[in-house]
Amino acid sequence: MKDASEMDLKSIARSVLEKLGADTSALDSGSMASFSPVTGEQLAALPEHSVADVTAAIGRAATAFRSWRKVPAPRRGELVRLMGEELRAAKDDLGRLVSIEAGKSPSEGAGEVQEMIDICDFAVGLSRQLYGLTIATERPGHRMMETWHPLGVVGVISAFNFPVAVWSWNTALALVCGNPVVWKPSEKTPLTALACQAVLDRALARFGDAPEALSQVVIGGRETGEALVDDPRVALVSATGSTRMGRQVGPRVASRFGRSILELGGNNAGIVCPSADLDMALRAIAFGAMGTAGQRCTTMRRLFVHDSVYDQLVPGLIKAYGSVSVGNPLTTQALVGPLVDGQAYEAMQAALKAAEDAGGTVHGGTRVTDVAPEAAFYVKPALVEMPSQTGPVLEETFAPILYVMRYSDFEDVIEQHNAVGAGLSSSIFTTDLRESEAFLSAAGSDCGIANVNIGTSGAEIGGAFGGEKETGGGRESGSDAWKSYMRRATNTINYSHQLPLAQGVVFDI
Ligand code: NAD
Repeated sequence: MKDASEMDLKSIARSVLEKLGADTSALDSGSMASFSPVTGEQLAALPEHSVADVTAAIGRAATAFRSWRKVPAPRRGELVRLMGEELRAAKDDLGRLVSIEAGKSPSEGAGEVQEMIDICDFAVGLSRQLYGLTIATERPGHRMMETWHPLGVVGVISAFNFPVAVWSWNTALALVCGNPVVWKPSEKTPLTALACQAVLDRALARFGDAPEALSQVVIGGRETGEALVDDPRVALVSATGSTRMGRQVGPRVASRFGRSILELGGNNAGIVCPSADLDMALRAIAFGAMGTAGQRCTTMRRLFVHDSVYDQLVPGLIKAYGSVSVGNPLTTQALVGPLVDGQAYEAMQAALKAAEDAGGTVHGGTRVTDVAPEAAFYVKPALVEMPSQTGPVLEETFAPILYVMRYSDFEDVIEQHNAVGAGLSSSIFTTDLRESEAFLSAAGSDCGIANVNIGTSGAEIGGAFGGEKETGGGRESGSDAWKSYMRRATNTINYSHQLPLAQGVVFDI
């Protein structure tokens, strides 16, 4: 395959899809255009699935569920093991496609695929560990236990910024838990979704006897997603995206008593304490705030720096912001790639203007035009020194803006830290045990992820991933996140000749 400088991205994307075995015949036959953030060029114009198509896909998935739920979990794990093998073989190609379609650096594109491989490994082990408890019963001659059963069709709705990993987090767990998946990827990243399906199809072919339609992709925007959200046959909707989306999806799923996992926006903060290793903090903050051009849900967006170290740390950070390389992630070694599109650029500029109006001093944030065609949107990451946490600081703007504020009192900074709607990720930089433990305690960070001496982004697969408050409360990936993909039954078995009732109730007839 030629490299990015010799070929247009559309052709590269196509040849990657073909190599992975995806059907490319319909890529130009529809009206849903997708673009590469790297150059702004159009990659495809796909036909959208209608509501009727989605309904039919859910019907096929419901049929698949009837047989897949009866396949022993370790055997289901074998499919996910094969999926992991196919992903290993496809890592370079799929990572490249992620870079083309989502604008990530090659290392971040490959890293996303590695995350998919990691969750497969995790899920294979899990397929032999879907344990229920045996529970002491008060009734003699009885046994009480819980059993975990497959749940049903899982609908996955995903965001543009992790176009493949989020699908795999859900799919690897859903499959070992005995559930089929219908996936609606972001309308901005349909090609990586087709590639993922092709990779899983290879694993399915090797597996042999899986039911048809165990995994399907439906292409489209909000309406296509709504068809998944509203269908009562979709037992679980796992939706990743903005808090705005979650506000719509959550109540709709709840109104039909469906289950949801909501993985929504973040407004993640770091606290730099007087005892912090400032060199390490600077590097962690730079990656956390500027990496992936500020387009991770866990991107660091707020930074509280103690008065006593502010003048040592912040000038260095401003310097790093000024010198960081911005450019085409496919043809250069630039650390900061493009924003996803012009809308993201406009939102960033509006936030910077609002910050300035609120008394902030903006460093950076300007458009970089000499690295790519007009249709692509590259920016210098912005560091904004704010007098207080106000205005745009309280909201997530999905772009590389870091709001920096001073603090002097530890308890007060914890209050400030928690005084935003989102509750995804957080970190503290300190070598003071009392401060780090207080930050991790019940009265500390209110986020689903709380770190010490590392940044807010870059979670590993083994832990449960997700956040509180306006981040939606969902958990995916590791730990016991699998329980959301299964239903629990409590079973009580009477092996005696008596019928004692619980709580001493008497009912003699
Ligand atoms: P988005 O909310 O615009 O779209 C996400 C997905 O939801 C898309 O597939 C979209 O088509 C779909 N959608 C939107 N409205 C819908 C509706 N009413 N019903 C059904 N589907 C609907 O988000 P985006 O711009 O693609 O992604 C960025 C956002 O995602 C940020 O807020 C980021 O923090 C968040 N995000 C969160 C996590 C997490 O794990 N917490 C991970 C990645 C991204």
